[in-house]
Amino acid sequence: MTERLYYHQQTLAEFSAQVAASDELAATLYLDRTAFYPTSGGQPHDLGTLNGVAVLDVIDEGERIAHRLAEPLRATEVTGAIDWPRRFDHMQQHTGQHLLSAVLAEQFGIGTVSFHLGDDAATIDLEATDLSPERLAAIEQAANVEIWADRAVTVAVEESPTGLRKASEREGPLRVVTITGLDRSACGGTHVASTGQIGLILLRRTEKIRQSLRLEFLCGGRALRRARADFASLTAAARVYSVGLDQVPASAREAQARLASAEKSLAKLLVEAAEQRGVAAYAETAGEGRRLWVREVSEISDEVRAEAQGFTRAGDAACLVSAGGAVLLAVSEGSGLNAGALFKAAVAEVGGRGGGGKTLAQGSSDAASALVAALRAGIA
Ligand SMILES: [Zn+2]
Repeated sequence: MTERLYYHQQTLAEFSAQVAASDELAATLYLDRTAFYPTSGGQPHDLGTLNGVAVLDVIDEGERIAHRLAEPLRATEVTGAIDWPRRFDHMQQHTGQHLLSAVLAEQFGIGTVSFHLGDDAATIDLEATDLSPERLAAIEQAANVEIWADRAVTVAVEESPTGLRKASEREGPLRVVTITGLDRSACGGTHVASTGQIGLILLRRTEKIRQSLRLEFLCGGRALRRARADFASLTAAARVYSVGLDQVPASAREAQARLASAEKSLAKLLVEAAEQRGVAAYAETAGEGRRLWVREVSEISDEVRAEAQGFTRAGDAACLVSAGGAVLLAVSEGSGLNAGALFKAAVAEVGGRGGGGKTLAQGSSDAASALVAALRAGIA
């Protein structure tokens, strides 16, 4: 049985203990007592060292707590050191969660389903389907008011506790974490001594997860680091647009609209230029009577189509383009030819599919060269 020092001495960062047992390799140790918090109740395990050897994982096995080490440690007595910044961060987030869940329940009538504390952000799943930005801001404000009230946070084992926010499924005495005047919850986690130590709470994004709404939040040091990073990102964006921070969204929207309009103009100009190339190609093609341009390209793009149309608009002409199995036929308005009809006849002969209007038709065939030959015969 491991005595859990963190239950009553939540700020204990160094301790000594006897080694009660270990695995064969001496890479997993069991102690008579420990200040290392094992992963449980949504809070991740502590990191730190035992006699200078790194602790990689701390596992709650019920009666005992296992310390998994980076390398074997053969000892009868150990000195443990907890990675305090990591633990304090977990305490800020976990107490912040109790406070946030209490505020949500008491002031907004929203229950908490579950809690997860990740490396970057903590989340709670709520009995809600949606929260507007205004409502989120109101919840955030109310939660911070409770932080600033600097309410004492106490821990006690109680025989038959009453007034818990959520009834516990466990029998017998319970460890109860109380935020004076705000919340009583059965919890095995580590907590700060007063709500003021949470520092600050920032609500971030929400995400619909099945029947509930997942709400991301950051407390204390995490909120500070995130605000600092947000400021750096926004400052960088503001520099790009040469505007103040608050003008960034409007500037980004304006730039996006200008880009879309410029892309539209460019596409139009490219097609016009392609048509002109088609006209020039007609002028360069020798021949009495109907002029024919047969070409192979990698893809029948808008520009290739425009070139074909430029070519056929310039005089009595036809243009045949193939790209792999795809074939395009363009003919002049006054040529007396019907591109769609020619195409239909050709695919009926060699196989494939396609068709079109009087001056432009397009399709594909597994026998593309035979299709081109059939169309060529129809044009002549
Ligand atoms: Zn808890």
